[in-house]
Amino acid sequence: MERRDVVDHGLKRRATLAELYSGRVSTGEVQDASPYLKSAAKRLGVETDRTCPVCRRATLHEVLWVYGDAIGDADGTARTLAEVERLATERPDFAVYDVEVCTACDWNHLVRTWRTGTPGTPAARRTRRREA
Ligand SMILES: [Zn+2]
Repeated sequence: MERRDVVDHGLKRRATLAELYSGRVSTGEVQDASPYLKSAAKRLGVETDRTCPVCRRATLHEVLWVYGDAIGDADGTARTLAEVERLATERPDFAVYDVEVCTACDWNHLVRTWRTGTPGTPAARRTRRREA
């Protein structure tokens, strides 16, 4: 899978953690993973070898979300890496968000984003109405 416009969000992540450790940000503001996000992380994500920086009790999962008009109904859904790689061969251009999630304490943060896709392939048509 070709990765274009890769953005690493490590700096923002470190800044958020520094604010948390210093007490400038409350845990509730950063430990806000929804049940849907946690479920997606467990079902579709991969378990990393990194320990959660907040609770230090669990290992982090990383899960991929895809966004873009070109992927039709897949827009705004969580996907396995294999599914994202397949989409990248079939669709012209879309964004991928790699999110780390702690399923124990609900910490979550964007790890990196990139764009992918194969120019010249057709865009998918949307069959569902987009939820607001
Ligand atoms: Zn945690």
